[in-house]
Amino acid sequence: MLYEVFARYRNAFTQINPAVIVDILLVSWVIYQLLILVKGTRAVQLLKGVLLLLAVFQLSDWLHLYAFHWLLGQMLIPGVVALVILFQPELRLALEQMGRGKFIPGASMPRASVSVAVNEVVGSVEYLSNRKFGALIVLEGQTGLQDVINTGKTINGVVTATLLNTVFYPGGPLHDGAVIIRGYEICAGGCILPLTNRSNLPPALGLRHRAALGLSEVSDAMIVAVSEETGGISVAREGTIATGLKVDDLRGHLLTMLQPAAKESALTRRWRQSVGRRNPR
Ligand code: ATP
Ligand code: MG
Repeated sequence: MLYEVFARYRNAFTQINPAVIVDILLVSWVIYQLLILVKGTRAVQLLKGVLLLLAVFQLSDWLHLYAFHWLLGQMLIPGVVALVILFQPELRLALEQMGRGKFIPGASMPRASVSVAVNEVVGSVEYLSNRKFGALIVLEGQTGLQDVINTGKTINGVVTATLLNTVFYPGGPLHDGAVIIRGYEICAGGCILPLTNRSNLPPALGLRHRAALGLSEVSDAMIVAVSEETGGISVAREGTIATGLKVDDLRGHLLTMLQPAAKESALTRRWRQSVGRRNPR
């Protein structure tokens, strides 16, 4: 099949027309998006495996190894089904991103109202870190986290440093697990996040940090972790985790990733109004 495509292009190159160029550009774009999507995730290894399998499949055809070619052909369809099952979270995220228009450059922005909670989150993280109170704070992006929220207890309170500090106070009923922040609201506490499968993490990163990384692999959320062993601050995003951050680093991370600068003042106003309504002085 691949051979037929190449053969057609060998002829087509002698008479290059706009359709050929558009065709090539489209295929390059799809491959590029695929590479961006899997970059830094466990799907990279898998993609290498699939490419190797396809190459061997094609080679066996060229070399007239009919039985081997037939055998590989038989394995392809169950293989695709197995892939879909194994990579269901990643596929779901990819389809959600496509639905949100993330494949069109510039069309996607994090849910903007999250950015106004940054100061409260940073204030709380500083407090928790100084006292070595462990914490896990999830800032929801555009991937809905309702299934994660359902694993915890509903809070539905405006994001304030005081509320976050209270939730993570050691021994409190909600201090175990993660808090999920949606916009300017803490939706729930005590939530259970999916753990990463990565095997190459430093031993100092235990379950809390594995949970932060795990959720960042299957959503566009940003997850802040405070270690109860060291007070260390980490941020996980898009399948990577930055550790040993200072408070100002954290603010920088959160603002750069969450804040569409032009909308800040209007959103800050909206948030303040909302806080004022809920907490009248
Ligand atoms: P620390 O540096 O704070 O000790 P750690 O990465 O070593 O963090 P652990 O000590 O293994 O992590 O776990 C500490 C806490 O992390 C648990 O008590 C729990 O509150 C939280 N945690 C562990 N797994 C999850 C999970 N899947 N989802 C949410 N929270 C989790
Ligand atoms: Mg630990």
